[in-house]
Amino acid sequence: MTETAYETLPELESSETRAGVGTVVMKFGGTSVADPEKIRRVAARLVATKRAGARVVAVVSAMGYHTDELLDLAREVSPEPKPRELDMLISVGERISCALVAMAISDLGTDAVSLTGSQAGIVTDTAHGKAKIVEVKAHRIHRALDDDRIVLVAGFQGVSTEYDVTTLGRGGSDTTAVALTAALGADACEIYTDVDGVFTADPHVVPAAQKLHAVSYEEMLELAASGAKVLALRSVEFARNHGVMVHVRSTFTDEPGTWIREEDERMLEKALISGVTHTLEEAVYEVDDVRPADLFEALAEAEVNVDTVIQMDSRIVFSAPVEDRAHAEKALAKLGTGFSEQQGLGKVSVVGAGMKSHPGVAARTFAALRRLGVEPKFVATSPIKIAFYVPQDSVEATVRALHDSFELGSPEAERHHDA
Ligand code: ADP
Ligand code: ASP
Ligand code: MG
Repeated sequence: MTETAYETLPELESSETRAGVGTVVMKFGGTSVADPEKIRRVAARLVATKRAGARVVAVVSAMGYHTDELLDLAREVSPEPKPRELDMLISVGERISCALVAMAISDLGTDAVSLTGSQAGIVTDTAHGKAKIVEVKAHRIHRALDDDRIVLVAGFQGVSTEYDVTTLGRGGSDTTAVALTAALGADACEIYTDVDGVFTADPHVVPAAQKLHAVSYEEMLELAASGAKVLALRSVEFARNHGVMVHVRSTFTDEPGTWIREEDERMLEKALISGVTHTLEEAVYEVDDVRPADLFEALAEAEVNVDTVIQMDSRIVFSAPVEDRAHAEKALAKLGTGFSEQQGLGKVSVVGAGMKSHPGVAARTFAALRRLGVEPKFVATSPIKIAFYVPQDSVEATVRALHDSFELGSPEAERHHDA
């Protein structure tokens, strides 16, 4: 059982970095800007932050489910839309919301300017639909801040080195916000969302889940990679690589949320397990009689992000994001080997940096699954994670059983400590 390492991001080539004293980057997700009333509330929060003395850069996501609606619309028109045109289309959602927030800010008597990713200087590679940021040319943002404006940046998008509009993958506004924080030398990146922070499990599935006060980059990488969609995986990689402190918190209250930062002794002391995550749909493939080098080369060429890999003699089982399904199937067909795809599986993962130094986590986990009567189809591990592929309809019960088994609903799971 092995797991591929995280791809590393290229260095952020920001020639524009200046001391950003008092600069704050605030990102608002789709539910936070879902209707006109919420947009006005976000505007008021930004204005209040500026009036308190900060230079304010805000990144906004598309309103509500707008990105999904645009994707559905594209598929109604064309069965396999060209990636370039799809990016032209879906980048529009973020443009709409950032223009609307800028209008609402002006109505409050404060100057604001909205910028597309391209206008904000976010330069990416050419991988449409999952482009990586290669450079941030922040001079236009600096100029607008110097002119005493609030700067709104459309999240989730950039301009490629070939001058085309690109998007950064689902949840990509988080990545925009973290990249801007690094490029502007801002103090921290505030991610405002519909929950109060990062919890020991998805609070919509486990009502007893506890908010974590501090999570290390390594743990957050595992949590994000295994389904805690509260932060996009790329944004956490970026934050770790550039030492950006991220604060995940609620749009609707002033309560402090969860800090993502370097590991700290006290995090390890307090936490054996930091959370139980899940995904409801996994694309899992079984391939027989193929040389691993050939298989993974073909998948890499097709730009499929392979996640879990399990090899047993000449049989290889691997998982990949559901969004990459069409590419994975094409690559496998081209190889000419027989393959099958396991349908109806979800994944439940137990994550915790404390696992490294405490034996018995696997025993406790499997005992909980046995009590529940759930047989995992595959199991994959990393030093700080155990992941189970289980039938979709058992996912939520499995999350709750594991959450109970590690007593994550008790207040001690919170890891409360100052700064
Ligand atoms: P936004 O639109 O603000 O980007 P997302 O929907 O992308 O918000 O992410 C927030 C959602 O992440 C929450 O509503 C919650 O259901 C889900 N989630 C999953 N796992 C976790 C977790 N461990 N902690 C907090 N939220 C989680
Ligand atoms: N609107 C995009 C999405 O739905 C990006 C984001 O919300 O971060 O994935
Ligand atoms: Mg999100």
